[in-house]
Amino acid sequence: MSKLEGQVALVTGATSGIGLEIALALANAGAAVVVNYHADREKGEAVVRQIEERGGNAVTVGADVSREEDVQEMFRTAVETFGTVDILVNNAGIQEDVPFVEMSLEQWQKVLAVNLTGSFLCSREAAREFCRRGVVSERSRAAGKILFISSVHEVIPWAGRVNYAVSKGGLGQLMRSMARELAPEKIRVNSIAPGAIKTDINREAWEDPGAAAELCKKIPYGRIGETEDVARAAVWLLSDEADYVTGATLFIDGGMLLYPSFGGG
Ligand code: NAP
Repeated sequence: MSKLEGQVALVTGATSGIGLEIALALANAGAAVVVNYHADREKGEAVVRQIEERGGNAVTVGADVSREEDVQEMFRTAVETFGTVDILVNNAGIQEDVPFVEMSLEQWQKVLAVNLTGSFLCSREAAREFCRRGVVSERSRAAGKILFISSVHEVIPWAGRVNYAVSKGGLGQLMRSMARELAPEKIRVNSIAPGAIKTDINREAWEDPGAAAELCKKIPYGRIGETEDVARAAVWLLSDEADYVTGATLFIDGGMLLYPSFGGG
């Protein structure tokens, strides 16, 4: 039996980058996938087609994760379509880079609204559904699993992007506090904190060879990450193989957190 056979997974921001790769990997592992799109319905439908062509089961649902009514409607549609939700991946995220002294209140709030409040809203709907349903032992030992896609900037301060770094720092405490509160309900809550992964969000940092070489100086393992590096770990964390793991952050960063500039002693 595949690791996630019979389970339903909702992935936010699943039309590109890390979210897309995780959606495909979860479908590969046997889950039916709710593919959340934000701006572009056609992209959502293309992901559903990709999953169906590989023999999987998926539906696409539009929602801006920062809007409470959108999120509630998305979960209603998911439950109407597949009967329940077993897995939530809080992946949707944005960056809006601007020097601190020039940052407008709107730029601050926009990033927090998507990255932090969006994750809260989705997690709350998922946890309500997990508590309502409880454990179904043929599917999983847990009543539900929530995975946040955080960032190394949960820990590493980031000049010119305080809104982003604060949103990811906040996710750390959201994840750990939820993990503590929801463990007795048999709900597991964890984070993956990627380093530099090749996606649209950071294209300018890896597309040009000079920029990529500069970026690699911050990565002791010597390569920029691929979306598959994150997706493989996500499948494991969301499966029963990781049933005793909750409240954990898995850094997938090629050693970016290992103080690379101290490499020479
Ligand atoms: P990406 O390709 O730009 O993906 C971001 C996704 O979020 C897009 O599908 C986007 O959809 C969606 N999104 C944005 N605003 C949304 C909203 N209000 N509601 C719903 N969805 C929304 O970049 P990515 O690198 O894969 O990013 C995925 C996650 O990984 C983010 O949380 C990011 O912070 C995190 N991360 C990435 C890296 C990296 O190096 N790539 C490192 C650490 C952490 P639209 O395009 O339609 O708006």
